Amino acid sequence: MPSMYSTIYVDDIREIKEENPFESMMSRFDRAAQLLDLDPDLYAVLRVPNRELKVYIPTRMDSGRIQVFEGFRVQHNFARGPAKGGIRYAPDVNLDEVRALAAWMTWKCAVVNVPFGGAKGGIICDPQQMSVGELERMTRRYAAELLDFIGPEKDVPAPDMNTNEQTMAWIMDTYSMHARHTVTAVVTGKPIDLGGSSGRREATGRGILFVINEAIKRFKMTPAETRVVVQGSGNVGGIGARLLHEAGYTVVAISDIHGGIYNPAGINIPEALDYLRTTRSFEGYEGVDFVNNQELLELECDVLVPAATENQINSQNADKIKCKVLAEGANGPTTAAADEVLHKKGIFVIPDILANAGGVTVSYFEWVQDRMGYFWREDVVNERLQDKMVASFNDLCRYADAHSVDTRTAAYMLAIDRVAYDTRMRGIYA
Ligand code: GLU
Repeated sequence: MPSMYSTIYVDDIREIKEENPFESMMSRFDRAAQLLDLDPDLYAVLRVPNRELKVYIPTRMDSGRIQVFEGFRVQHNFARGPAKGGIRYAPDVNLDEVRALAAWMTWKCAVVNVPFGGAKGGIICDPQQMSVGELERMTRRYAAELLDFIGPEKDVPAPDMNTNEQTMAWIMDTYSMHARHTVTAVVTGKPIDLGGSSGRREATGRGILFVINEAIKRFKMTPAETRVVVQGSGNVGGIGARLLHEAGYTVVAISDIHGGIYNPAGINIPEALDYLRTTRSFEGYEGVDFVNNQELLELECDVLVPAATENQINSQNADKIKCKVLAEGANGPTTAAADEVLHKKGIFVIPDILANAGGVTVSYFEWVQDRMGYFWREDVVNERLQDKMVASFNDLCRYADAHSVDTRTAAYMLAIDRVAYDTRMRGIYA
């Protein structure tokens, strides 16, 4: 769609590549900005990140030699509070991806109305090939390079792909050593004993359960008759599948990076995940059919949860997706080119910036608890998470109805509207 905004302001005309998550994010942003009739000054400010840092990270490897890794931290927006977002370690992470993920954090925090902006970090590395010592030294040096830019009031990192509670503990410790006192609120997703929050580890999966519970009501379905397919078995997919199974859903398929298992009668998820943990693959698991990750997405089901990585649902396979509800566990699992196809098929999309916002919501609770120095019971955390997810789901559906747009567009419009309002109130320091 030709956009007035694009012609006026997009100075760096590039070939639009479907698999570039930043392009996917921008084309949805443009559409929402246009529908909101966003003031051009606000558009000019919100379409770019606030700051992009690129750091080189010398790391002593076990061989005794130094290897220099490349890392990023993109701080997209601070209008509503400190920037917030995870750090991922992957061989193929790049600046455009981190840039998109940082913007998604801004929109995500606005959709669930937590007082944060958005950020994301990444280091180009292959964590599977690195020892614990190498990972620790690389993480500490990365944290040291970011010292001036992160902090409880500035930018609060969290785990993302291939990073975890241990990674956050190292960052917290490095930051604290330089501050000369313990600063737990500099990161979230920490171990519970070091200022982490109960329920944080499960929060993204639990948030997905809460929004799926709301979505199936629209189809007058009960959990038991709802067949769910989950792509991914990590912190989001694995925990999400387990919680869905415990809540009585019929999870008919689940995968890891190598492929998936399928049984139309339902899979015993805790048992399958135990099997995966011990054998490191679903291969050989009995009583199921084996499918590859592409086939898995195209299975007959009621709810599809892509919880692996970006661009899984794209112009190549969107017309073959057969679910009623698409609950996006990953960030950016659907390309912008696929949106239209899904919409035409009548698939109800719970967009990533709502569906997976349970993680950052409990990160917000963790940050609050760290600053109070008073910690909540897990049932309190889960209940507050449920309140947030259900209220945000209903806000989004109301907004979509009021503006006669699909839920993806509504999520962007709602988020941009909130960030734009706050930016206008603060005034642009220009
Ligand atoms: N990495 C998670 C996300 O993409 C969590 C971010 C956070 O808790 O700050 O939402």
